[in-house]
Amino acid sequence: MSVTDDPICPICGLLFASDILADVRHHKKFHDVHVNGPKTKMPEGIHLILPHSPLRDRLVAQEAASLLSRELNFRLPYCATSF
Ligand SMILES: [Zn+2]
Repeated sequence: MSVTDDPICPICGLLFASDILADVRHHKKFHDVHVNGPKTKMPEGIHLILPHSPLRDRLVAQEAASLLSRELNFRLPYCATSF
C-alpha cells in the first residue's frame, strides 16, 4: 500500500496505514483523545488550573492546550512543568 492509499481519518485527521496493526492501535488512542479529550478524573466543567495546582491537573491542561492548538491551528502555549 502506498502512502497515498493510506486512509486519513475524517474526524481526527490522522494519516495511518490500516494494514499495520501498530498504526491502527495508535490511531484508536489518538482518535479517542481527539474526540473525548485527555483522560482525567476531574468532574466535567470548567477548571481553573494555577501554577500550584496538582501536577496531574497541569498535565491534563497541557494536553488539552495541545489538542486545542492542533484543532484551531493556533499555538496555545502551556507547559505543566515550567512552574
Ligand atoms: Zn480518527
